[in-house]
Amino acid sequence: MIVFKFGGASVKDADGIRNLANILTLYADKKIICVVSAMGKTTNALEQILSKVWANENPFEFIEHLKNYHLQTAMELELDIDAIIELNEIFDRLNDQLNAIDRTGSFDFYYDQIVSYGELLSTTIVHHFLLESQCDNWLVHAKDLIRTNNLYRDAEVNWALTQANLQKLVQGNAVNIILTQGFIGGDENGNCTTLGREGSDFTAAIIAHCIDAESVSIWKDVPGVLTADPRIMKETQKFEQISYQDAAEMTYYGAVVIHPKTILPLSQKGIPLHVKPFLQPEASGTVISQHKGQALPTYIFKFNQTLISFATRDFSFIHEKNLSDILQELSNCHIHANLMQNSATSFSVIFDYRKDKFEQLTQALQEHFSIKYNHELTLLTIKNYLEENVALAKENKEFLIEQKTRNTFQLLYK
Ligand code: ASP
Ligand code: MG
Repeated sequence: MIVFKFGGASVKDADGIRNLANILTLYADKKIICVVSAMGKTTNALEQILSKVWANENPFEFIEHLKNYHLQTAMELELDIDAIIELNEIFDRLNDQLNAIDRTGSFDFYYDQIVSYGELLSTTIVHHFLLESQCDNWLVHAKDLIRTNNLYRDAEVNWALTQANLQKLVQGNAVNIILTQGFIGGDENGNCTTLGREGSDFTAAIIAHCIDAESVSIWKDVPGVLTADPRIMKETQKFEQISYQDAAEMTYYGAVVIHPKTILPLSQKGIPLHVKPFLQPEASGTVISQHKGQALPTYIFKFNQTLISFATRDFSFIHEKNLSDILQELSNCHIHANLMQNSATSFSVIFDYRKDKFEQLTQALQEHFSIKYNHELTLLTIKNYLEENVALAKENKEFLIEQKTRNTFQLLYK
């Protein structure tokens, strides 16, 4: 069995979905589990709809827009009336769920119930299009496969139950293509959970791990893994091959080409991960595996970073107990530190800004520390850097922190 994952950009319109079907036909001799994300920017749109409801505003226009987008795509694909009815029913259920929101309840819980609709819509369209293209496929709800705890928005996988679900699925299956949603799972009460933004890659890796797949392919709008995000830097090179370790490090520093949690489940089983361009399915792309890759200088940008510095209120030196208190609070707030630095009287942490987490952290620590912060910073990491790369990166920048190890250079700037 092989696992494919198609991201939002690859299924953003009718052409994308036709292209997905074409790619599947190139692999007609294989058994495939195909993981699909929400179309285009649907997840963002659903986030917006939920925040409207949460702010007691009318989300009607936004819902209509999303509905038109999906129905329009379905029409362009000439889907039959059953598909259109099904899509309408999904929108009815979405409306019911939105109406049932109780704003005294947990935002994160509702987030997962609402935002998961993006994948339900996209897979419904893909399922019907494949059927109508004589491509037999079985659509399975990921909620029934990927079992998680109820840490909504960042749910953790119950590997034993997920493996049991997936093995049962594969054993009882006669069709060549099983289709399912990326990003979503289900908790023990049958509620939807989500695995974190861009989590569909992780879904593909979970599935591959649990069924011992031959390989995973992530189909993307780039030729493979590049030495920088081509939207940010003009000159890039493609890696033919990268080791699991290098790929994992790149995602750790913020490379968005694959979700950070994707590599581990695959490396544990030695399953190769192909990153391939969906517009050129025959191209080599990049293979991530246990084999050593090239050491090219690689640029990773992380935007919207917050720098917080904690100083003791009595100007005493920062000691281990202070550090331990701060780190404990980061962990309580589920904040991941992208960079840390300490001096005699202060300790600084850099992390991805999220309003709720930022407020929780500062509230918890303001009694004991005097706190200073900067928002909207950029963290640049250069892996395998050369001195000339560093000099160029620093040019014309107002930077706040600079850190270097033998292989990695990091710069935090305004
Ligand atoms: N649709 C989800 C998101 O946009 C998951 C994914 O695309 O991987 O975050
Ligand atoms: Mg996406």
